[in-house]
Amino acid sequence: MKFVKAKKHLGQHFLNDDQIAKDIVGGLSSNALEGSVLEIGPGMGVLTKHLLKKTNNLSVVEIDTESISYLSHNFPELENRIIEGDFLKMNLKQGFGDQFSIIGNFPYNISSQIFFKILDYKDHVTEVVGMLQKEVAERIVSSPGNKTYGILSVLLQVYFDVEYLFTVEPEVFIPPPKVRSGVIRIKRNDVNVLKCDEKLFKQIVKQGFQNRRKTLRNALKPLNLTDEVKSLEILNKRAEQLSVSDFEYLTLQIQH
Ligand code: SAH
Repeated sequence: MKFVKAKKHLGQHFLNDDQIAKDIVGGLSSNALEGSVLEIGPGMGVLTKHLLKKTNNLSVVEIDTESISYLSHNFPELENRIIEGDFLKMNLKQGFGDQFSIIGNFPYNISSQIFFKILDYKDHVTEVVGMLQKEVAERIVSSPGNKTYGILSVLLQVYFDVEYLFTVEPEVFIPPPKVRSGVIRIKRNDVNVLKCDEKLFKQIVKQGFQNRRKTLRNALKPLNLTDEVKSLEILNKRAEQLSVSDFEYLTLQIQH
């Protein structure tokens, strides 16, 4: 069967290095491999091939019809576990059990959206190993005080322990992407509920970073803070200087 033709609008950059494919799959912990695993965007199955050696509990979701027929033809053992569809539109509560892990060389055009969706399902996702554009990978693992620290870093780091695994150069893809890539692993931690109101927490994080160069006192103006809150020392800082627990503290002050 002939190869799948790469389609730009689907973010298709096929990995053409078997050792790197093996290393990405090697990023999944043995714990994750014991449960259900979902691969996003398998394409021609360069990761899938290695995953199948390590787990019998793999499902894949792929949006591209041409890749779907390639996969069905080359991986008959996957049978009914090849899902044709858009990961962003899927109901993840059906089909993979209550807890599962996610892996993939993600389509870079939607990599942030993939992680926001994972956040929506945080109580079901135990671990994620993903390759994405290095810049977004760095944002996710970034810590306070860094320019790359932002909304996704804070929101994910509340519920996940994050790790940067390694960098991948553009030349190992067909066609090569314009940017370097990074592989990260995030593992669900033991936080179930925040000490503060979660909705308000998210709102404060988003609002704070929307004007990241302003002090929080100015950035959070739309929230109509009381005079008492406005006098808090922490509001002299900028969002990028606050740790996850600083944001929790601030939320608690504002919600009272
Ligand atoms: N894993 C393969 C392909 C990576 S390219 C490899 O490493 O070579 C990204 C893949 O994600 C492509 O196959 C693309 O068709 C698929 N894709 C793009 N958008 C998607 C979506 N919304 N849902 C599921 N798969 C998607």
